[in-house]
Amino acid sequence: MFFGGGFPGGFDESDFGGGGGRRGGKAPDTTKFYKVLGVEKNSTDSEIKKAYRKLAMKHHPDKGGDPDTFKEMTAAFNVLSDPDKRKAYDRGGEEGVDNGGGGDGDLISQMFGGGGGGRRRGPKKGDSVTRPLPVTLENLYNGVTKKLKIQRQTIDREQGVKKCETCGGQGVVVRTIRMGPMIQQMQQPCGACGGQGFSYTLKRTSEILEVNVQKGSKDGQKITFHNKADEIPDGEAGDVVFVLKEKEHDVFKRHGADLYVKKKISLLEALCGFKMELKKLDGRTLVIKTPPGFVTTINKFDPFSSEEEQGWEEYADTDCDLDDMAQADSADLDMLKKAVTKGQLKGKGIGCFVVQDGRTTFKQGSREECIAAKSKSSGATMYCLADAASAAAGRLTVAVEGEGLPLIRDPYQFGNLFLQLEIEFPESLTEEQTAALASALPAALNSSSADEGAEDVDTAEVSLMDPVASHKEGTFQAGSAHDEDDDEGGAGGQRVQCAQQ
Ligand SMILES: [Zn+2]
Repeated sequence: MFFGGGFPGGFDESDFGGGGGRRGGKAPDTTKFYKVLGVEKNSTDSEIKKAYRKLAMKHHPDKGGDPDTFKEMTAAFNVLSDPDKRKAYDRGGEEGVDNGGGGDGDLISQMFGGGGGGRRRGPKKGDSVTRPLPVTLENLYNGVTKKLKIQRQTIDREQGVKKCETCGGQGVVVRTIRMGPMIQQMQQPCGACGGQGFSYTLKRTSEILEVNVQKGSKDGQKITFHNKADEIPDGEAGDVVFVLKEKEHDVFKRHGADLYVKKKISLLEALCGFKMELKKLDGRTLVIKTPPGFVTTINKFDPFSSEEEQGWEEYADTDCDLDDMAQADSADLDMLKKAVTKGQLKGKGIGCFVVQDGRTTFKQGSREECIAAKSKSSGATMYCLADAASAAAGRLTVAVEGEGLPLIRDPYQFGNLFLQLEIEFPESLTEEQTAALASALPAALNSSSADEGAEDVDTAEVSLMDPVASHKEGTFQAGSAHDEDDDEGGAGGQRVQCAQQ
């Protein structure tokens, strides 16, 4: 099975309608569309297609063709290339397609209808205005009403709107040019009304809008004031749209309805509990403390660096021998992972996918089946969905329930407050401190009874190192002196050969 349309790269074909314009009660014209495309009434589908393609090359607006001609031929083609619509057209002309063609009439009346030559359906609307509206996290927590002054052009109603006398409201005038024996008619924008078709007086009006920002509103959320943009003489004014722009907060970071706060705690606090206070977004003070005996551990999960809700295990140079279930011409990991966990492939039992040379194949199976079907394959990378329960366990983060933001759909419910803790370890300890800790803490897990002075025993002290730098160094020397490495963990004394990439 392969992806259908709708996956990135697919496209929406709904723009291509069929059908014809509306006309009065005359006998139906069932030949016009054929004439437009220059084909016979009994021509085949492929002849129609060919004729259209030829005309489209010539008349496409991008190639300097006349848009109206192009629209007309496209409409004709859309009808004649569809067997059902063609039948309807042959029977009843454009009206026949309108009535029997499955609701495409609307689209076409958008293109042709409205009696005014190429206007959109419905009343004409002026341009809308979009304005950013900066809001603080406090604003979003508590809700806020902002009074904003807008300036707009309105039409002086006392003077009224008059049709231009020069052009009769058309906005264009036809000029006749005589060149010897030839008479040419040219359309030009009307000079008297500047092409508007109306004469009227504009005045500058200012108005106060009360913008109501609801509790829990999101960054990027739009608040629309209908018909509050500049007025136009022959339709309704456009809208004023405010787009919320959440300002960064000094203390809190927002993730949906949840809040995150970064804090440092000492090793003592991690082991023996902590108590801290925070200023809430409503101005109240929040005291946060650990329950008795609670030991704080931290994880590396960061919702801001990866949007993944479910973890993925990555296996380099690995393919999976399960059957292909779907494919994609992409190696965009974010997109691929999303497709599996929340997109088109959700619920289809995908256990892993393999990326190689910019292409991806998805495999169906449980995590165990995927792991069992692993095979070595240079250049391929297998991404296996981590076990949901263990992934969730690895993400557990210290949190305070109900201290997040109000939910927009129910402002009496709240998200949670997560503490992104960093444990500050002591730089070093004195002997007395070490002894005191040893007596208080659970016993060490590791020990050695080897004779450090013996011939066959090496002793080493640890230090801090950068594994990335170390790996680079090791890679450059690969091939000449890779035997210097000691066996890791002494796994049966087997030497591991450096894999050449
Ligand atoms: Zn005019």
